[in-house]
Amino acid sequence: METKTYLYNTLTKKIEEFQPNEPGKVNMYTCGPTVYHFAHIGNLRSYIMEDVLEKYLRFVGYDVTRVMNITDVGHLSSDGDTGEDKMLAGAKREKKTVMDIAKFYTDAFFEDCRKLQIKRPDVVEPATNCIDEFIEMIQVLLEKGYAYIAGENVYFDTAKLDDYYVLSSQNEEELQVGVRDDVEEDTNKKNKTDFVLWFTKSKFDNQELKWDSPWGVGYPGWHIECSSISIKHLGEYMDIHCGGVDNIFPHHTNEIAQSEAYLGHKWCNYWFHINHLNTKGGKMSKSKGEFLTVSLLEEKGYNPMVYRMFCLQSHYRKPLEFSWEGLDNVATAYEKLMKRIKAVTEEGTVDEAVLQEYKVKFAEAVGNDMNTSMGLTILYDVLKADTNDATKRAILTSIDEVLSLELDKAWEEEKGADAELTAYVEQMIAERAAAKKEKNFARADEIRDELKAKGILIKDTREGVVWELC
Ligand code: AMP
Ligand code: ZN
Repeated sequence: METKTYLYNTLTKKIEEFQPNEPGKVNMYTCGPTVYHFAHIGNLRSYIMEDVLEKYLRFVGYDVTRVMNITDVGHLSSDGDTGEDKMLAGAKREKKTVMDIAKFYTDAFFEDCRKLQIKRPDVVEPATNCIDEFIEMIQVLLEKGYAYIAGENVYFDTAKLDDYYVLSSQNEEELQVGVRDDVEEDTNKKNKTDFVLWFTKSKFDNQELKWDSPWGVGYPGWHIECSSISIKHLGEYMDIHCGGVDNIFPHHTNEIAQSEAYLGHKWCNYWFHINHLNTKGGKMSKSKGEFLTVSLLEEKGYNPMVYRMFCLQSHYRKPLEFSWEGLDNVATAYEKLMKRIKAVTEEGTVDEAVLQEYKVKFAEAVGNDMNTSMGLTILYDVLKADTNDATKRAILTSIDEVLSLELDKAWEEEKGADAELTAYVEQMIAERAAAKKEKNFARADEIRDELKAKGILIKDTREGVVWELC
């Protein structure tokens, strides 16, 4: 499709025309969940908007490869390298092993994704699968002089970079966003912003999962996993890296630092960040312990599609405040929308020109920095469009490849009813044929009349019996 894509790029702080490294191909990386608890609907806001971005890129013709990690080690309760590993805290909370917790919450995450029509990325890689790759990357960083050993941990030396703050601005207040629960300062660090690449047994001795390394038995820091996993699967050049805004600092800032130091060149061109889902008390967060999940919404009677539509109605770069009232309004709107869609029949033949015209309109709207609410407006425009129903159905089906609001479910009931009717008529036709064979013409006529009374007309043709609704 000949449409241009514009995206806000956190790196340049501007809306830019999107140009992938290789024409027609997009390499995309998404920071996956830390699987020590259920994903809350705030996390899922990020994954919904990233899903729309991926599907939109496919819609306009890109060949997308999307990779996601699963954080099952190394993400400490503070993003600033202090506190306990979140996975260990989860395991203690539930009196299970870290691997049990990881498996349970990874499955739960993908189940939520399924309910919300979030496509599974092409590659999903748990951090604990890639320890050798992390060690190799850290070794290169040490050899190149970008890393140092102190107190038996390996640290990245941020003073070695010309512009450590290339992604985030050097505004202390903004930077604090990412540093949650930062309780103690790590005195091994040469610079305040240095971060851990590898922890050894000298620190957090109670860590459950540990591996051998040239620097002692230990475990990787959180940031190294995303650099390493993305380079492993997507190569040295990446087009789009996604995540929530809380990941800008320190996580993504550190990813850029170590990836570019390791590769020796620029790594990722576009950084796509989703703003937070907030409640009245502030950002919805797992560590606060009180949060809303998809299952909870379902228990309260909401179709997960209602939450997806709630997210699509607002722009991904704006904070979104969650309220039950807001969700109720969307639930009503979704129900009405599905009723209107149900009324769109299959009549007519698809007008390819009109279908294409709406596809382009939709692509231009969403391609304007993911204006999903405009995408929804176009959905409503289709229902009012001056074209036949078959064309409307084709447009709705096509744009729902991106919005994924399960619009086709509106026609499923009808299809079910159609299938039932066909089965009934075919059975009657078979009975009539049997009656004729037995020369029971009275019964054969009776069947024909019975069908006619139900508005079904049967005709004997050379090709056999055909039927139609009259
Ligand atoms: P985590 O499981 O904590 O590693 O987070 C998974 C993803 O959810 C990351 O991309 C976070 O930036 C994002 N995230 C965390 N909290 C929120 C929130 N309240 N609203 C939107 N995204 C969030
Ligand atoms: Zn990450």
